[in-house]
Amino acid sequence: MQTLKAEKVFKAGEVIMTQGDAGLCAYFIQEGRVGIVVEKSNGKLLHMGTRGPGSIIGEMAIVDNQPRSATIKSLENCTLLEITKDDFARSVRAADPIVRLIAQIILMRYRDILRRSQTLLADSADSPSPEELEREYAEQINVVEAIKMANEFKVAIATQQLVLNYQPILSIATGRILGFEALMRWQHPERGLIPPDMFIPMAEDSGLIVGASRWAIREVCQMINRLDQARPDMQDLYVSINLSATDFDDENFLDNLYDTLEESSIPAHRIHIEITERLLLKQPKNVKETLDNCRARGIGVIIDDFGTGYSSLSYLHQYPIDTLKIDQSFIHKMSEDPIVFGLVKSILSLSQNMNIKMIAEGVEDIEEARLLSELECDMAQGYFYSRPVPELQVLELLLRHNGPLSPAP
Ligand code: C2E
Ligand code: CA
Ligand code: CA
Repeated sequence: MQTLKAEKVFKAGEVIMTQGDAGLCAYFIQEGRVGIVVEKSNGKLLHMGTRGPGSIIGEMAIVDNQPRSATIKSLENCTLLEITKDDFARSVRAADPIVRLIAQIILMRYRDILRRSQTLLADSADSPSPEELEREYAEQINVVEAIKMANEFKVAIATQQLVLNYQPILSIATGRILGFEALMRWQHPERGLIPPDMFIPMAEDSGLIVGASRWAIREVCQMINRLDQARPDMQDLYVSINLSATDFDDENFLDNLYDTLEESSIPAHRIHIEITERLLLKQPKNVKETLDNCRARGIGVIIDDFGTGYSSLSYLHQYPIDTLKIDQSFIHKMSEDPIVFGLVKSILSLSQNMNIKMIAEGVEDIEEARLLSELECDMAQGYFYSRPVPELQVLELLLRHNGPLSPAP
């Protein structure tokens, strides 16, 4: 089980957790038996029973952040495996919204029963009623909309409702297209074309993004093959794919990526992956190993929205990054605000010193393009050059920026 962490040993008679304390972790009992005792509001102790190997204890606190509802002692020498709040939170985030809601509601009802039978110390007088709490939970995660959308999105992945548009990334010095960014849209049968900001967060929360990203990787590989057929002279073009933290939590991510590349005979350097600073901050499992592995194979690693995270530059040498994509907000403010201009200039010289390439994103007018050229920024992307386009228009863009098909040597 991937959520199980450190092993802890408790001697017979030791207190494992104390009623009323903040709960930081749950435990899976590997060996030994424990006794559960609840102190009633009148001070009397109530023995709730014992648990043995295979049981989980202390799970309520990590589910709903409430204080421990019982004291648990080891009755014999026990070996327990710790499940931390963070591990649990990651699993919950990846769970279906309905599973999440039901888990919270069952737990809340259970606590309410305990409270009513006065077994909890907490005074229930000022606490909200269960009905109020249930409504609050449901509103908090906008459950109806989330469930409906998640169900529809599952169908969307399976029935080819997802589409990718491609936005060119150009060399500022030569004006040639070097690659494209694949941007996902959802062609909904009733609601029409839905932009990614409307469904990616839901797909990330529900874990469905893993299936969507797999689809995108496969689709991009097939697109590159189609492109090579039409433009055999452009076999250096790459396509970058946006990934989420949840993709890195998927233990089959790398296998799937490499299998897809192999099946479609696409060399690794034709694929770049875009991840955000925020993703690195979330520290998904094995992110460094995964990125190192990708780089070692030749896949490009781009940090997206650079400058909007928590400005921790430590990851620039910690992770195998080969390109930074400076966020559009800097590009827009650069021409009016000398401080922002200075900042862009510093980021550029930093990246040049570290041998990291730089893409300016969201370039919208000629003035922004001119300033970037003056600063000797490597690459640019934005409406000034082209909006993201359907695959059918990719050849047209190549013709315009890179010229006609050159005859085979
Ligand atoms: P992003 O990765 O930062 O992508 C750039 C966004 O800026 C795109 O919006 C693009 O259309 C837009 N853009 C490009 N040039 C300009 C410009 O000159 N001006 C302005 N104002 N905007 C410009 P889009 O396609 O709506 O995507 C929004 C976000 O959704 C993306 O931001 C990315 O975070 C996410 N996304 C898109 N496709 C995928 C995907 O396949 N997987 C994942 N995980 N996320 C995706
Ligand atoms: Ca991106
Ligand atoms: Ca971006």
